[in-house]
Amino acid sequence: MSIERLSILGSTGSIGVQTLDIVRRYPQRFKVTSLVAHSRWEELAKQAREFEVESVVIGDERHYEALRNALADTNIEVMAGSEAINHVARSYRSDTVVNALVGYAGLHPTYLAIESGKRIALANKETLVVGGDIIMSAARHKGVDIMPIDSEHSAIMQCLEGEQRKAIRNLIITCSGGALRNTPREELESVTPEMALKHPQWSMGAKITIDSATLVNKGFEVIEARWLFDIEPERIKVVVHPQSIVHSMVEFTDGAVKAQLGTADMHTPISYALLYPERAEEAMEQFSILNYPTLTFLDVDREKYPALDIAYEVLHRGGTAPCTMNGANEVAVAAFLAHKCKYTDIVGAIRYALDNASFEKSPTLSIYDDANIESRELARRHLKLDK
Ligand code: NDP
Ligand code: MG
Repeated sequence: MSIERLSILGSTGSIGVQTLDIVRRYPQRFKVTSLVAHSRWEELAKQAREFEVESVVIGDERHYEALRNALADTNIEVMAGSEAINHVARSYRSDTVVNALVGYAGLHPTYLAIESGKRIALANKETLVVGGDIIMSAARHKGVDIMPIDSEHSAIMQCLEGEQRKAIRNLIITCSGGALRNTPREELESVTPEMALKHPQWSMGAKITIDSATLVNKGFEVIEARWLFDIEPERIKVVVHPQSIVHSMVEFTDGAVKAQLGTADMHTPISYALLYPERAEEAMEQFSILNYPTLTFLDVDREKYPALDIAYEVLHRGGTAPCTMNGANEVAVAAFLAHKCKYTDIVGAIRYALDNASFEKSPTLSIYDDANIESRELARRHLKLDK
């Protein structure tokens, strides 16, 4: 097998670092050619040396000088800014792009990588939330595989192996319930970032941990599943499963239900996406069912978690509506993390943006850019934030 060249976008983040853990185990199989980060330039320089990459990009141009100096004694090409990220996404230097950026910033690089015929290992769910239609049709057109890294979608993909499409009845996405699972609805108003960041099972980046607490993340995963598996939203169900052992399920027409189980460790779905159709020879941590004698499943409390219904709503509206939800959420989550708004304001900002944004039924990528800017402005206005 020839060596597969990887570009890793978001290499300093939670998924990026775990992707490098997998790559480290398969030096004969993978060669990292480019790494992209946003602000953590020292970590990026360290990774670049270890993996002897050809190029690095730092998204935030203010760190360009520092990064260039840190790598001055190497032949590594150093670039900065979003155009440089796009350049890496398109570059002939890689066969596969691992997109582990966070937020809207992931959309264009995914699209450009598909247009360049590269295989995609996709963690950046915002890509599909915002532009699922455009992205999936570009992938079909180019014959490009999009391998999900999100654990739920990886689980569904594993359950669908060898099955016929017409036999699928429902997809059942599991949900831990996030950090505030046991917090009563009346107390949500006073939740602090520190409380919402304590995810009971998964250790992840800050934004997705807050999205998990509000269930915006689960709503986004419903949208992601709609596009990845080309299935009607009505047939995508969500159940709360506090132990996070069953990563998702598929229900078939004959009444059979398949589930994929394992520890809450992202190394497994990352390695599945990278090595498919093979599997990693060894797990980071072997799973034993005897350690989990009780697995429970509950309905979602839709009043406590209004974001889930909003996600179904934007999915039905289509067009720019999911993009508006995403943009407002990004602003509100950042504000919440900076103690500039309340936890409950996150959904308030999403609602305000959806009620006030312009709507385009058949957007292009540049219309998404406009909708993203508009929704961010609306959220800022609603939250009374400075620019
Ligand atoms: P992190 O916040 O841990 O990492 C994000 C990465 O993207 C970092 O390398 C960061 O750089 C970089 N980055 C952030 N903003 C920008 C920007 N504007 N331009 C370019 N690069 C940027 O996030 P996660 O790893 O947790 O999540 C990444 C994606 O994967 C998200 O879409 C998330 O929803 C999804 N995901 C994550 C899971 C997890 O377990 N963490 C599980 C399933 C999905 P720097 O750190 O240098 O600033
Ligand atoms: Mg997930």
